[in-house]
Amino acid sequence: MALSGIVIYKMLPQTNCKDCGFPTCLAFAMKLAAKQVELSACPHVSEESKAKLSESAAPPIRLVTLSSNGAEVKAGNEVVLFRHEKTFYNMPGLFIRVRDDQPVEQIKENVAEADAYSVNYVGIDLTLDGFAVQSVSGDPQVFKAAVASVRAATQRPVILISDNPEVIAAGLDSIEGKGALIYAANGENWQQMAALAKEHKAPLAVAGKSLEELADLTEKVKGAGVEDLVIDPGTRDFSSTLAYGTQIRRLALKKNFRALGYPTIVFPGDAGDPGLESMLATQAITKYAGFIVMDDFAPQTVYPLLVLRQNIYTDPQKPIQVQPGLYEINDPTADDPLLVTTNFSITYFSVANEVEGSGLPAWLLVTEAEGMSVLTAWAAGKFDAERIAKDVKRFNAADKINHKRIVLPGHVAVLSGELEEELPGWEIRVGPREAVDLPAFMKQAL
Ligand code: SF4
Repeated sequence: MALSGIVIYKMLPQTNCKDCGFPTCLAFAMKLAAKQVELSACPHVSEESKAKLSESAAPPIRLVTLSSNGAEVKAGNEVVLFRHEKTFYNMPGLFIRVRDDQPVEQIKENVAEADAYSVNYVGIDLTLDGFAVQSVSGDPQVFKAAVASVRAATQRPVILISDNPEVIAAGLDSIEGKGALIYAANGENWQQMAALAKEHKAPLAVAGKSLEELADLTEKVKGAGVEDLVIDPGTRDFSSTLAYGTQIRRLALKKNFRALGYPTIVFPGDAGDPGLESMLATQAITKYAGFIVMDDFAPQTVYPLLVLRQNIYTDPQKPIQVQPGLYEINDPTADDPLLVTTNFSITYFSVANEVEGSGLPAWLLVTEAEGMSVLTAWAAGKFDAERIAKDVKRFNAADKINHKRIVLPGHVAVLSGELEEELPGWEIRVGPREAVDLPAFMKQAL
């Protein structure tokens, strides 16, 4: 049962030492009651209080982790309904499903192709998270062989799909239970499935036909000793998947309803149509899936989903940044120009890609501007002559070039006078406003 801020406050040391980052114990208690901080942020809470507060401090949506040979998928542990309230933390895992009625060599080939897929987006390598193996044959040995062929092609986590405990047991044997999510316990098989999950220390998905049935089942399975659960309310169409997903999230976050406080699993692949599948997966990424199982692996389907997921699961208050520093583009020599920009990822990649694509060599000084674009950073006082000059010195730009010439972005031409004062003896050139015009500028003016 959720505790109020005042009740929590009475269990804290009440010294207002600020070690938790809050000015008072009461402020910390209020945040703890709202599930916006972890109890571990207070290093002074007594063991007795810790035990009492553990229920209140537990995340409203349990964190479920699938780990396999260094690859890891985490789902749950979310604290807000809407991303703009704070941030979403753990991206839903994207899984590609194969079926055990396919030839094993075909499975291996398909999985290897999807496993190798990787795309670089603003400096981040985006990949799929794992594979699901569905038993169509109903035969444990056939399933076991299919799971083995998946494991031969990938080290990523797998979801084993069957409602027959014997089939699941064969699949678990095949991979020694490592990195597997069992799908699924239902009203008939939950005792055997719970026993398998316990034996192999594997998370277990629970499937119900209604929220009531689901809540009843999760309590039973939890009572049998399995804590890491994933839930499937059984919906497959757009509106009921959205409605149930939202209700589950609301009940967990707003009502602290523990029986549904688990990440969900959805199956866009069941739509049977790549277009619908892609749209269902899009909906699932935004609201509020923990695991997404798809059938269609095609770069044109997967790429937008990976990018969308990356964007939804970044902190809206922290722009994506690159490391400040002096970057080399196209193997520059000491004669080549020195350009400057900010460390907002999209700004950096716009400039770097244009210069790289032109084949012209250059040094690119990326300054610390708290991840803001050129104009925003300038307006916020984070990209000024003093900072640029400081980074010219910090990254030893003068040691790499045999000239003293630096190119400012055209949007901040106004800084050229001040920069001359900050960098005595340097020539300040004003470049174009848009990155796309840089190659022509470099050919003509440098
Ligand atoms: S660290 Fe603990 S004792 Fe110190 S102010 Fe925060 S809640 Fe209070």
